[in-house]
Amino acid sequence: MITQSPEETRQLAREFMANLGVSPLPENSATIVELVGDLGAGKTTFMSGVGEFLGVKEPIISPTFLIQRNYKIEGNFPWKNLVHLDAYRIEDEKELAGIDWEKYSNNRENLIFIEWPENLRTSFSVTKRIEFKHLSEREREIQI
Ligand code: ADP
Ligand code: MG
Repeated sequence: MITQSPEETRQLAREFMANLGVSPLPENSATIVELVGDLGAGKTTFMSGVGEFLGVKEPIISPTFLIQRNYKIEGNFPWKNLVHLDAYRIEDEKELAGIDWEKYSNNRENLIFIEWPENLRTSFSVTKRIEFKHLSEREREIQI
């Protein structure tokens, strides 16, 4: 898909979520979505569309300096928590020590989106992978 504006990227995210909602959930495992692409490619913009779809009230902002942010999902969805992880700054797996990754990834109530998953060496089973490419100032190629 090619989007021509941030709003089109958020729209694509809402459509993605509408389809994801009907996928069967694995036992003892969170739903994990990888967001892959360079800085400015639109990963966090996509996340704000995810938040819109799930009725998350707070704005989804880049967790880059915090690594991880959690949002409550209150609507009638298969998940209770939206977890947004941005591993851009992670150079060492030890930096994840403050985050109980096992606990997060083993809980099927969690919907986890990870920016820069390539920086995490921990193995986890991914449900979906989305790739973002910067084509021009307003155009992004997004592959799901
Ligand atoms: P990332 O999280 O991948 O680093 P962001 O979503 O934070 O990227 O930033 C994307 C930037 O590109 C934003 O400033 C956004 O307004 C801009 N932009 C321009 N066109 C698009 C588009 N089609 N889709 C998403 N973002 C776009
Ligand atoms: Mg980002």
